[in-house]
Amino acid sequence: MQLTITLADQHKTKPEDDKLGFGTLFTDHMFNMDYAPDKGWHNPRIEPYGPLSMDPATMVLHYGQGVFEGLKAYRNKEGGIQLFRPRENFKRLNYSCRKLCIPEVDEGFALEALKELIKLEKDWVPAAPGTSLYIRPTIIATDPFLGVRASHTYRFFIILSPVGAYYAEGFNPVKIMVTREHVRAVRNGVGDTKTLGNYAASLLAGEKAHAQGYTQVLWLDAIEQRYVEEVGAMNIFFVIDDVLVTPELSGSILPGITRDSVIRLARSWKMKVEERKISIDEVFEAHAAGKLTEIFGSGTAAVISPVGQLKYEDRVITIGEGKVGPVARKFFDAIMDIQYGRSPDGMGWTEPVQ
Ligand SMILES: *Cc1c(COP(=O)(O)O)cnc(C)c1O
Repeated sequence: MQLTITLADQHKTKPEDDKLGFGTLFTDHMFNMDYAPDKGWHNPRIEPYGPLSMDPATMVLHYGQGVFEGLKAYRNKEGGIQLFRPRENFKRLNYSCRKLCIPEVDEGFALEALKELIKLEKDWVPAAPGTSLYIRPTIIATDPFLGVRASHTYRFFIILSPVGAYYAEGFNPVKIMVTREHVRAVRNGVGDTKTLGNYAASLLAGEKAHAQGYTQVLWLDAIEQRYVEEVGAMNIFFVIDDVLVTPELSGSILPGITRDSVIRLARSWKMKVEERKISIDEVFEAHAAGKLTEIFGSGTAAVISPVGQLKYEDRVITIGEGKVGPVARKFFDAIMDIQYGRSPDGMGWTEPVQ
């Protein structure tokens, strides 16, 4: 397949690196590719960034048949640009596609197209500490049809957005609360995919948590409402008796690439890791026994998000005196150092763009 490139004749003004927020600003170009049953994925192209025009009956707007990914490009200390485990993102995109009846994309081709797009937009990759170029590959169902079935046509696009440091105000712990009123996902459902509706379904619980002064929701399993699953749109880790404990991938948990990186690093450091069921009662018991020293979330946006306070019904506990613990900090530093090329990548996780 031949990638065609159409250049924009107008260029946006780029903001200062230290004034970047998250997800409000997009680069000058985007990648697009279409799917039709008789042609497969075809017409891959880089074009000026712009609105998608679509029929109001377009299926994704009605039935949410769409999937996405989130990853970042980082400016390394030599001024080059690198990606962190991007093949894992395209692999997971295809996993999401299979569950949503969307035709899979060629992972190698998608990565090459992404690299071409980033090369064209290289001046948009910020250099200030903690900043990066956020990458959003998305696939949507495009048949204009109101019947409920899988679409026959699709659009795959990739957009890029320069983003500021996640911890602009310092690497500080957040307050989280357990919800029992809402569940995120159920086993054998689509909780282990990055599909559109999962995020719409999580909003109300998030708003209720915010109204009570909490940053994120801690989700329990949907069946017994006993076992910890995720925190907000991040995976979750506990340090109990010096053992790193994280919920096993049950089918309703999103298999985070940051989660996998934390586990692999921990094992390489000879730290004891357990992927298993962990109940909310066990968390509170471990805290009461003085064994729970840290809780943190993991995800591409924040890398590591330490938890300082946890509320469950009428109980509120403080973890590690509300400060960032040494384990969370060690993972945060180690992963960021690899992502930004500040330390050697013994794991083979980074991939140069140019
Ligand atoms: C994307 C996501 C994560 C984190 O995945 P990473 O690959 O580490 O960014 C965790 N939970 C949910 C629900 C997510 O959507």
